[in-house]
Amino acid sequence: MSTPIQHDFRSDTVTRPGPEMRAAMASAEVGDDVFRDDPTVTRLEETLAERFGKDAGVFLTSGTQSNLTALMAHCERGDEFIVGQQAHAYRWEGGGAAVLGSIHPQPLSNQPDGSLALSEIEETIKPDDSHFARTRLLALENTIGGKVLSHAYMEAATALARRRGLATHLDGARVFNAATALKMPVATLARPFDTVSVCLSKGLGAPVGSVLVGSAPLIAKARRTRKMLGGGLRQVGILAAAGLYALEHNVQRLADDHANARTLAEGLASFGQLKVAMPDTNIVFVEVDGAIAEAFSAHLAAHGIGITSAYGATKQRWVTHLDVDRTAVENALNAARSFFAGR
Ligand SMILES: *Cc1c(COP(=O)(O)O)cnc(C)c1O
Repeated sequence: MSTPIQHDFRSDTVTRPGPEMRAAMASAEVGDDVFRDDPTVTRLEETLAERFGKDAGVFLTSGTQSNLTALMAHCERGDEFIVGQQAHAYRWEGGGAAVLGSIHPQPLSNQPDGSLALSEIEETIKPDDSHFARTRLLALENTIGGKVLSHAYMEAATALARRRGLATHLDGARVFNAATALKMPVATLARPFDTVSVCLSKGLGAPVGSVLVGSAPLIAKARRTRKMLGGGLRQVGILAAAGLYALEHNVQRLADDHANARTLAEGLASFGQLKVAMPDTNIVFVEVDGAIAEAFSAHLAAHGIGITSAYGATKQRWVTHLDVDRTAVENALNAARSFFAGR
């Protein structure tokens, strides 16, 4: 039998709602949200729209559904969107834009800092010629792989898109982490984008949900697509209440996750067989010497430390969140220490 995970660094999606969040969910006022009768959902959508400086918002069941709905709000069949090779909306969403939206992806390599080179964006925008798909949208992501793109870069990339007649979408699944790291309000980060998708179920700790914000016409279109995708829900204020609770209680504390990630990264970096990328936010990537990778992975697992690993355990991802505290970080570093002792 394998040891149960005691300190779960696999992802910030593993958080479980605590008693106060559950109490807020249990006492939520609800109605049929497809009839727009659920006051708690409406309050969540309005709260996020206001926080992001946009006209309107729509509650969705996941970040994947939110990105797809946004892409379909911007693009018609046969349109093209420019997106990073590493972007969630391109790589990790089952090809949904193509499968369900008939939207043609134009991926570009992400630079080491996570950005797309402005010159490549410019060059890849197709001329108006019947050979080509119509380039319609630039989709960016912040944070991307835990890295923060600067506001100056976002302004430059979106200005280029606008100059060339493209719409802009931000996959802001972890935009509150970006805002925390940049010490800027989320409204500032959202300002240059037509739509922004925000996850409630990552670092914010809600069990379910994303919200897409943008202009009233785009969000009205998104609402129609959401229904078509089977995402129109009924007394869903029970979930929206968790999102409202998270916005009130779990945003300020993201700074703690970032501090814990840094402590973890600095601790792991002290071992010669680990190559650690210093984190901007709450995600730490570690490259492990191939000779010890499987053994190190098994040692961590045997000590109840959960992480995500790939490529024969040579690539590790550690994510901090509200259910792993300073003690969890210390215990993880102690487990690493006991592995490397005598090696
Ligand atoms: C997790 C994530 C999503 C998708 O969210 P799900 O709720 O898992 O569908 C989208 N974009 C980014 C950047 C993410 O990290």
